[in-house]
Order: sequence, then structure tokens, then C-alpha cells
Amino acid sequence: MGAPGVAPKEDCSRWACRPSMAPSRDRTGSGRIGGRGRRPLARSETARAFRALTREIQSCRRCPLGSTRTQAVVYRGSLRPRVVFVGEAPGAREDATGVPFSGRAGARLDAAIGRLPLKAGDFGVLNLLKCRPPENRFDRAAADTCRPYLDRQLELLRPRILVPLGAHALRALDPSAPAVLRAAGAPRGGPGRWVFPLIHPAAALRSRRLSARWERDVDVLAGWLASLRE
Ligand code: URA
Repeated sequence: MGAPGVAPKEDCSRWACRPSMAPSRDRTGSGRIGGRGRRPLARSETARAFRALTREIQSCRRCPLGSTRTQAVVYRGSLRPRVVFVGEAPGAREDATGVPFSGRAGARLDAAIGRLPLKAGDFGVLNLLKCRPPENRFDRAAADTCRPYLDRQLELLRPRILVPLGAHALRALDPSAPAVLRAAGAPRGGPGRWVFPLIHPAAALRSRRLSARWERDVDVLAGWLASLRE
């Protein structure tokens, strides 16, 4: 926390980042990830729809995780993000706070985001799964049930760039990508629908080798974002 360029989580936890915090910019481009070809909603409509979706997710009981979680973990960040970081599932800390990536892996992620050429209004953070799986074991069936929530979030947020964090997120967002260790650190796709995979920040905490890989790939992402003209 406190890294330059990273919004304090209190300001941007869950959906509740105020729309007025987002920078104004043209939202009329088509061909973006999420909601391609649809009329972009006005800012107030997006805020209203995102709030309604957040309430729906918070009361969801569609899978067994709905009864084991403390609370659903929905989103933190801007409602007009250029980049959305997509994790796998909330852990114990996130289950307690309701804020995605609010634990140790989140600190590593925030330190990386602080090195990217992004302002607070330029990014958001969410997960494939909105509820913590017991013992943090990724639950594929639950992820399938949860998937429409991710799609609806992305349809409203309309980011130009997705950054899947780890193998599960990469597979969900870009099924034709190679394994995450091969794909991480290089952009895939094209204008308006970029996917830039990274290894999971929790992996970077586990070994020196993966830590070095994480740092290198974040540097590549920083350079790529700086050079991107969109
Ligand atoms: N790991 C994730 O994938 N997401 C979180 O929110 C926290 C840890």
C-alpha cells in the first residue's frame, strides 16, 4: 500500500470507487474486451449498473461457496479502467476485508502497479471467483458458475487491457494461450482487446526464481504500457 500511482484501498474498495474519481476520456471506441459492439453506457448508468451487479454478487448463493464465505469479494478500482488485473479467488484476508488482493499477494501486486505508468483512475482489480474457496483450493465448478459475473463486470468496465494473474485467470480469459510460464510477460491479442499475462503474485512470494520472473515481466508490462498508443 502507499505505492505511487496506487489508489488507497479505502477509496476504491469493492465497487464503491466514486465515478467522479475516474478521468474523463473517450469511451466510444468499439472492439474492446467485454461488451464489444455495444453502445457504451453513460458514466452514471455504468455506476448504477455496477452497483446493482455488486449487490447481486454480494447476495449470491448459486454455488456452495456462498454459504462458506464471510463475504463476496467483488472489485476495487476505477469504473473506467484502462487495465483490469484479474486474479483467481479471494484468500482469507480478502474474505475478511471484502477487498480483492488485500493480503500479501495484494501488496506485491500493488507494488508492481505502482511501477506501471498508470494513475489511480486507470485500473481495477477483481477475481474470477468472487467467494473464497475453503483452504484456498481453486474450485472449477464454482468458477464456471461465477463466470457470468466476471463477464458482466468486464462488459460494464470495458477495459482495453486485461492482465490475468496466474494460470486459472489466463485460461479463463485466453483459452488458446500457452501455459502461463510461457505466456507471461508478453502481450497477446491486438488493439482494444489486449491480454498481458503475468504469473500470480503469490507465486512471486514463493521462490526467488519466480520473484525475479515477476519483476522482469512487470518491467516489460511497464515499458509496453508506456509505448502503447491507446
Ligand atoms: N489471490 C487472488 O487470486 N486474489 C485475491 O484477491 C487474493 C489472492
